[in-house]
Amino acid sequence: MESTRVVAEKSAGGELGIYACPVCKRLLHQEEGVLRCPSCSQAYPIREGIPDFIREELSQSKDAVLRRMRFIDRMARIYETKLWYPIVLNVYGGFHSPSLGQLISTISQKVQSTQGRLLDIACGPGTYGRRIASPSKEVFGIDVSMGMLRQGAAYVAEEGIPNVHFARARVEALPFEDGLFDAALCCGSLHLFADTVIALREMARVMKPAAILSVFTFGAGRGGVLKFRRVREWSRRNVGLHAFDLSEMEQYLTASGFEDFQPEMSGSILTFSARKQTA
Ligand SMILES: [Zn+2]
Repeated sequence: MESTRVVAEKSAGGELGIYACPVCKRLLHQEEGVLRCPSCSQAYPIREGIPDFIREELSQSKDAVLRRMRFIDRMARIYETKLWYPIVLNVYGGFHSPSLGQLISTISQKVQSTQGRLLDIACGPGTYGRRIASPSKEVFGIDVSMGMLRQGAAYVAEEGIPNVHFARARVEALPFEDGLFDAALCCGSLHLFADTVIALREMARVMKPAAILSVFTFGAGRGGVLKFRRVREWSRRNVGLHAFDLSEMEQYLTASGFEDFQPEMSGSILTFSARKQTA
């Protein structure tokens, strides 16, 4: 009896209580195995503890990046190993690209003084978020790949990391209320979103005024294959990879409600921070 009551109390609160309908942004009610919207009645299943807010079949998507989801799901196991991350960094970014460890450190420093809730956009297996989570930093990771999220949940369980939660959602339809997050990360994915401004606007919506956004993406820099304009054009057309000019990125940020753009380019690796506008 006692244990049933404790379980019921735990599941009534807990991190699942934070999620909102990605369509109408109302807070969701928890039912057996689903989160249900009291307003539009949409039900979102919880699979292996991970809420799933994507109702469409991504293999049929108009977006070429999303159509590759099966491949991305299968990559989850090798994503953080030397078989993948360093190769991508060196080919696209240039041979003197920062290592994954250096990138994690750069990204972490920008949110070091932040306490509270952090959103990790396109978190993969929690590559950055689970290394930044702490007793004072609760990380909510979202990604479109269930394979990546499951791998993340397995790492978090193995490594005994508290304060990391995963959900499957698209950056264009975040399952959160307005102004919820004290900071946001977006590492290794901004260049892949179909519409950068739509993605950034949705991130800004769920952030508090003056909250910091910490990003690693690709720029039109001087390293790797992305230093060639033709490769950048080809990548954008054929793989949906957008290597940004700094002035272009600043325009996108301003148009999306951010200010205080602080970029650093190393080869063709672009890391930057920006703040959500206060007014
Ligand atoms: Zn709804």
